[in-house]
Amino acid sequence: MIYIHVPFCIRKCGYCSFFSVPLDRELQDRYVSCLVKEIRQIGKTLYPETLYFGGGTPSLLEIPEFEKILSYFDLSHCKELTLEVNPATISSDYAEKLRILGFNRVSIGAQSTDAGELRWLGRIHTHEDTVNCVSMLREAGFDNISLDLIYALPGQETTSVLQSAKALCQLQPQHFSLYCLSLEDSVPLAGWQSKLPDGDTAAEMYENLCDWLTVASFSQYELSNFSLPGFESRHNSAYWNQVPYMGFGPSAAGFTGERRYKNPVSIVDWIEMVDSGSREWEHETLNNREQEYIMLRLRTTIGISFAEFSRRFGVDFQQKYSDVTAFLEKHSMLEEDVTHARLTRKGRFVADEVIQHFFIDDER
Ligand code: SF4
Repeated sequence: MIYIHVPFCIRKCGYCSFFSVPLDRELQDRYVSCLVKEIRQIGKTLYPETLYFGGGTPSLLEIPEFEKILSYFDLSHCKELTLEVNPATISSDYAEKLRILGFNRVSIGAQSTDAGELRWLGRIHTHEDTVNCVSMLREAGFDNISLDLIYALPGQETTSVLQSAKALCQLQPQHFSLYCLSLEDSVPLAGWQSKLPDGDTAAEMYENLCDWLTVASFSQYELSNFSLPGFESRHNSAYWNQVPYMGFGPSAAGFTGERRYKNPVSIVDWIEMVDSGSREWEHETLNNREQEYIMLRLRTTIGISFAEFSRRFGVDFQQKYSDVTAFLEKHSMLEEDVTHARLTRKGRFVADEVIQHFFIDDER
């Protein structure tokens, strides 16, 4: 499972806190050379089951750059090769070449279909661009397309977000990812923080979106992710199962199962790190891994398997967390059957608060 962070965007969106810098072809050349060097430090050829190009705007990389990067991977066992795409950045020719390179999944940052909302967010694309983008990708043979949708914008009505969801559904994607807008202090739109919808309004939008996507035949398999049967993201599902992964590129992270690293959030510092060949690893305590596992699994609709939990952490989930689960079940936030514990529908709307109840220090 490998993630590659591509840190270039044509223009920064006002709400975005992902690491990216303005497109600069010279810097992009240096980035690709350094990326290849970073990959080679791990092994001459890597054999990922899933490979995900995220960003930033990975669809700003040119086809020869992908060819160069992908030549360091043996993709014969790769089940999912995903590219995040900005709808305004691709052409038919580019889409066809992506297919030839082996990409079999795209995740499009559609976000909304409303022109005013897209402008306010600072997106460089229009809904028409999204429509054209999907059509070009389909013609090129892509049959696994995911669309991102943002909700809870200042002043947004539930009807507007549902309109976007319905219009995007007409494009017949196989997958949807929902994002509740939040504005960190560092982003250009931070001044709008106080104008964001309150928790109840955002929860109502989320609930309506969940219902509507269910009616449109999408199954929710994680708090923010919905798919047609068989189109769940393998890459993200592996991440929610705490499978070890490697991340390459500035700001990317990796996890071996016992140790973690996070690359510098700066292209210059990342290049220095790769040139010096020194990566800083942090040991992960068993307690931290256990808490992260609970947090990740409770985001999924399958939830926590008691057998798997005991195999991984050597403790009985039901025994250790009996007080917490009893409290949450009493408030209808959590449910258990013989094999699993999972959030209820009510629990999903306040998932972050519910998950906090499991954070117990036990010094392991
Ligand atoms: S295109 Fe994506 S990564 Fe780039 S600034 Fe906008 S939201 Fe952030």
